[in-house]
Amino acid sequence: MGEQYADVIVDISHEKLDRPFQYRVPERLRGMLEPGACVQVPFGNGNRLIKGYVTELGETCKFDPTRMKDVAGLAEKDVDATDKMVALAAWIRKNYGSTMIQALKTVLPAKQSVKKLEKRYVESGMNREELTALLGESMRKKQTAKVRVLQALLEQETDIPYEWITGKLNVSAATINSLVKAGAIRVRTTEGFRNPVKPVVRANAGESGAGPKRLSDSQRHIVETVLQDMEEGRQKTYLLHGITGSGKTEVYLELVESVIGRGRQAVVLIPEIALTYQTLMRFYRRFGDRVSVMNSTLSPGEKYDQCRRAMEGEIDVIIGPRSALFTPFPNIGLIIMDEEHEGSYKSEGTPKYHARETAMEVARLHGASVVLGSATPSMEAYYRAEEGEYELFSLKERLTGGSLPTVYTVDLREELKQGNRSIFSRKLQELLADRLQKGQQSMLFLNRRGYAGFVSCRACGQVMKCPHCDVSLSEHRDGRLMCHYCGYSEPKPKLCPKCGSKYILGFKAGTQQIEEKLKELFPGVRTLRMDGDTTKTKDSYEKILSSFANEEADVLIGTQMIVKGHDFPKVTLVGVLAADLSLAANDYRAGERTFQLLTQAVGRAGRGELPGEAVIQTYQPEHYAVTFAAAQDYEGFYEEEILYREMGGYPPAAHMLAVQIFAREEEAGAKLAVRLADTVKEGGHQVLGPAPATIGKINDIYRFVFYVKKADYGQLVEIKDGLEKLIFSLQLRQEQVQFDFDPMICL
Ligand code: ADP
Ligand code: ZN
Ligand code: ZN
Repeated sequence: MGEQYADVIVDISHEKLDRPFQYRVPERLRGMLEPGACVQVPFGNGNRLIKGYVTELGETCKFDPTRMKDVAGLAEKDVDATDKMVALAAWIRKNYGSTMIQALKTVLPAKQSVKKLEKRYVESGMNREELTALLGESMRKKQTAKVRVLQALLEQETDIPYEWITGKLNVSAATINSLVKAGAIRVRTTEGFRNPVKPVVRANAGESGAGPKRLSDSQRHIVETVLQDMEEGRQKTYLLHGITGSGKTEVYLELVESVIGRGRQAVVLIPEIALTYQTLMRFYRRFGDRVSVMNSTLSPGEKYDQCRRAMEGEIDVIIGPRSALFTPFPNIGLIIMDEEHEGSYKSEGTPKYHARETAMEVARLHGASVVLGSATPSMEAYYRAEEGEYELFSLKERLTGGSLPTVYTVDLREELKQGNRSIFSRKLQELLADRLQKGQQSMLFLNRRGYAGFVSCRACGQVMKCPHCDVSLSEHRDGRLMCHYCGYSEPKPKLCPKCGSKYILGFKAGTQQIEEKLKELFPGVRTLRMDGDTTKTKDSYEKILSSFANEEADVLIGTQMIVKGHDFPKVTLVGVLAADLSLAANDYRAGERTFQLLTQAVGRAGRGELPGEAVIQTYQPEHYAVTFAAAQDYEGFYEEEILYREMGGYPPAAHMLAVQIFAREEEAGAKLAVRLADTVKEGGHQVLGPAPATIGKINDIYRFVFYVKKADYGQLVEIKDGLEKLIFSLQLRQEQVQFDFDPMICL
């Protein structure tokens, strides 16, 4: 038997060492190592022994064999790199495609020098009798500040935080010092970790008496079912389908509390954009300092602190976006994933993991339950619920009152025929005028996501589509229309193939133009705009939303950002300017995304006591995503959409692997794409493409993509494994390859 070599990554926190080093596996360690094993290896000139993780085992020596050092032995793992974390990294690596380093870096917190915060406590320096005597004396002398401190000491069972005495009791440091001198109290200093929950949340939470709600029958049924399964050792995933305001969060709170009561921990995933002050406040009220938060504004040090707090049992609940899934809790009992359909749950960088499946793997490792919640569940989640893989619950009623808005669907083709060339239909103009006159608020929503150059006829709404893929074609620089799934292309027609009109155009209106046009139409209207441009700085998102909530504007104009987060009780009109923009996006999730956005947008009207109305402007009023959203009919939409997915072999009916090639040289990239695709074809698999990606070049890097579809995910993993081997043997220098399983966007 030949030699065995191990790739060992020695320190994931040092960028300089961000590559594996190869070591020989000595005879005595053969068969004892596997990827993820923690080993000791000699490092540097002094041959100091340091700890590392095996990322790969193989029989090829990649370096000078005479200088190759031996693995010294097995080592104990770091506390934060528990077996579960390393196992999770290995699972992510296998199922999404990446190096072991990338996977480890994803799940383990980058080590930071931990600066502990000092916490000061005041404790009694005397026994009760002495304290009582001193209290009497201070009362007689009318030393009111001293009286407050001594009374607190006699009443409280525990040590009192220093800040509580100076703050709440309003006692000066001088008074405290004199009590220390008199031997009445001692100030003790302990070290703690940084708590990222803002003081304003912590301070306000104490004030409110709002305790747990008495659950409705349907809420209680959900909580009891989940807890009973947990009690009886059935580890499951549940999908909670309920419109906004139907009481999902209250169910989460109740479940989290029960899980904590059983000595286990809970992870609550919320898309960053929906993680508002209000949400955090509700959790903080219930769990106080046992809950912490992760988000992108935390410094690496603060993030690392939260991991330490989780490991040391200082917290039981973490709230945050997808990375909160990697909080190193010892014994997770519950993972909640709110707004489960959100695209941000899929990682954009390699490894391109999806938080839903990864949550299920974390849950498997811990024996935890998973609860997914959404008003518009993803096709994936609902499909799995239908298949019986998840258990489905629904909450049908809005608990806070407010009725569903009346929806008007406006056919933009008709508007053009009637001579209205404005971006506002006559119905929308009429209702806007009405709201301005009544002093009520409106929201105008423009979806920009689908705007990657799709082309349609303005007269009849016909969208130019690929004859092979049933997705829309995109306009290219050379003026041709192209399919980015299969590479099919055709010249851009001069006249509409359906109606002969010459108005074949891309849709180009942006939020800024809408704001200008609105001001032309209604001079003096007060507007706020929310889009990528106006939300560049930290806190600008919250600022715009709160000034709209304070009624500092009549109309809020924005992209999809405005349909999430805050509730605006004064909004009685929502206008969707062009529903088709996402409908015609050239990928198979376009219908789903449109339905979700329209449903959310329409649902923003009439949250308060006043009834709401919504106007959906579209070139395709008959499209099922539009009609079902207007009717707020999720099940109806699902039935139609799943047929399309089944027929096209798209997820969730099947699985799809996108292989992306990045190259400095266009020709080399194209050649590599063909080479890789051919290898897959030789294995007897069907391949779509390769073709240039939707955005064919970014920063002078050319991008190509091809797709493989399979009913079985495991087969795609095998294809990926084969390609990884080939790519490794090609020793690419100029090109890079990435894998994306069940891609969320058209690449
Ligand atoms: P969702 O998370 O589905 O949007 P929430 O849990 O936030 O719904 O509930 C919506 C509103 O109804 C909140 O103000 C909440 O306090 C209230 N609520 C939820 N459950 C109950 C209940 N059982 N009794 C009374 N009010 C409730
Ligand atoms: Zn036409
Ligand atoms: Zn095609």
